[in-house]
Amino acid sequence: MDLLNTLVEKGLRRELPSREEALAVLTTSDDDLLEVVAAAGKVRRQWFGRRVKLNYLVNLKSGLCPEDCSYCSQRLGSEAGILKYTWLKPDEASKAAAAGVAGGAKRVCLVASGRGPTDRDVDRVSKTIGAIKEQNADVEVCACLGLLSDGQAERLKAAGADAYNHNLNTSESTYGDITTTHTYADRVETVRHAQGAGLSACSGLIAGMGESDADLVDVVFALRALDPDSVPVNFLIPVEGTPLAGEWNLTPQRALRILAMVRFVCPDVEVRLAGGREVHLRTMQPLALHLVNSIFLGDYLTTEGQEGKADLDMIADAGFEVEGAGTATLPEHRGGGGCASACAPSDSAASDSAPSDSASSAGAEASSARTDLVTVRRRGAGTDLAPNA
Ligand code: SF4
Repeated sequence: MDLLNTLVEKGLRRELPSREEALAVLTTSDDDLLEVVAAAGKVRRQWFGRRVKLNYLVNLKSGLCPEDCSYCSQRLGSEAGILKYTWLKPDEASKAAAAGVAGGAKRVCLVASGRGPTDRDVDRVSKTIGAIKEQNADVEVCACLGLLSDGQAERLKAAGADAYNHNLNTSESTYGDITTTHTYADRVETVRHAQGAGLSACSGLIAGMGESDADLVDVVFALRALDPDSVPVNFLIPVEGTPLAGEWNLTPQRALRILAMVRFVCPDVEVRLAGGREVHLRTMQPLALHLVNSIFLGDYLTTEGQEGKADLDMIADAGFEVEGAGTATLPEHRGGGGCASACAPSDSAASDSAPSDSASSAGAEASSARTDLVTVRRRGAGTDLAPNA
């Protein structure tokens, strides 16, 4: 297929595809799916070989958020039966983190619900980072605490944080449909704060919220322009008790096409398969390893993932290998930093949104509600039960 040949050539050269090419990936047919995966897999292998980086989530503070993100079970007014607890103590958090590291995780992601941290919260998280690094100096620590105020990114960096996560989630033009308590611009600003402080930026998206293909391309192009080092791709887990509980829009095939598109647009960036992989890719998860070079091990913030052992078995069975602590994740030309060489300045791409009905919508594909696959997390951080790692 000419489209795929072009995309592979561009990906190997770290050249930005056109919006039309990115959109075309999303509208390829199921008959072409394996060709799409194989093509994006060539780009993945060029920059990341067969390595898979493992990341481990620790939910430091769960639920009770004053923000209203529609996709989130921790939101204001959420009726989801999730665990609710306030800040874990540093030793509790570092114990949970140690379980992930023992399971093979190279990065620990410290996440707290809320609009953003107070300075006192930054102090708490700084102590937690210190406790984790004391146990294992090599582990990468990423903080995800919401919108950052001036100086907070610098303080986290000084405390030993390696990275900061803040997702754009969806296109600028539809951001107001999923959240009203903060803006897309707020999110962009926080990613820039993190980058400005020398933290490795992690910023991604959530697919399956009813967005159009054009929205998905918009957010991925905006991410490329923003230049994060890692791009987590979440597939909405429609948790009962949230406004998006009825949004079952994804098939395994569509999820794979979305991951392939992200790989073509961000060829040499850590593309991380994040929440929702078990729910939406289901038995097709191993194919996704040909597209992404990073996954989460074990459970998510408020829902359970498959057993950590199943993650490790899947990686081995599919012929991939867990990335070791001594191996650099990013290609040498990126020097462990941003994707400046690969990222064409494309601010215009983000604002050049097609109307949301101008391309096939996620809802156009047949999919069925798989509520049987959604399990609220009842183990690990905030409970007396051992974490899944
Ligand atoms: S995504 Fe974050 S800010 Fe939004 S409701 Fe959930 S915890 Fe709060």
